Amino acid sequence: MIKVIPIPIFHDNYVWLIRHAMQAGGALDHAVVVDPGDANPVLAYLAQEQLTLSAVLITHKCYDHVMGLGALLEQHTAPVYGPAIDHIKGVSHPVEDNAVITISQSLKFQAMLVPGHTLGHLAFYTRGHLFAGDVMFGAGCGRIKEGGNAEQMFYSLQRLAKLPRDTKLYCAHEYTMANLTFAQTVEPGNRAIAQRYDAVSALRKAQRPSLPSTLAEELATNPFLRCSEPEIAQSVCAHADIPVTAEIDVFTALRHWKDQF
Ligand SMILES: [Zn+2]
Repeated sequence: MIKVIPIPIFHDNYVWLIRHAMQAGGALDHAVVVDPGDANPVLAYLAQEQLTLSAVLITHKCYDHVMGLGALLEQHTAPVYGPAIDHIKGVSHPVEDNAVITISQSLKFQAMLVPGHTLGHLAFYTRGHLFAGDVMFGAGCGRIKEGGNAEQMFYSLQRLAKLPRDTKLYCAHEYTMANLTFAQTVEPGNRAIAQRYDAVSALRKAQRPSLPSTLAEELATNPFLRCSEPEIAQSVCAHADIPVTAEIDVFTALRHWKDQF
């Protein structure tokens, strides 16, 4: 059993803190921290709850995901797992695609190489929970930068979308509201988007995170997972002024549209 806590940092980032027990049936007095872009709020939570840091997971090299690592490790000793090809300072355990990271008897993560936003980007999956960094967002996906390209992003998203549909999605930014506005523009006939817009709106007004979502919700409302839908293909190709084309090209044009939206 785990309990996942959002720690908001900066303007719209989340550090996800995974509380877990070291022994079966024990208290949730250990924590795995994902992408500590800022150390102070994480240190404060660990101290307040008297938690032992058991590991840090780094999805990718962007500063807002790694900047707090040094200060965190000054006060806690724990292995730091991150993308092997990025050579990030502070990563003690570089991991490759499909590596299994064992935290305890009952808590293991599978590293999944999902390039596109950056070349070395990893997502971390443990049964029922996916920590997706800046690859898949609520109703959106990450920008293409630092060596990534749209084709990689397309296949990375497809790979994540094949996990069980009830998997909870924890991404690193609170972008869902803006992404849903874009999704409605692209696919105005999709009622699931309108319903999610209302639900997320209510959460945000109450100052609650829109996350985690589920992969089922993303499959129903995230345009970047829906490029094979005729309404999306038509709307994207009309906007880009190109003939209706293959799914990968629809995706590329959709990502380009979002960049300017
Ligand atoms: Zn990033």
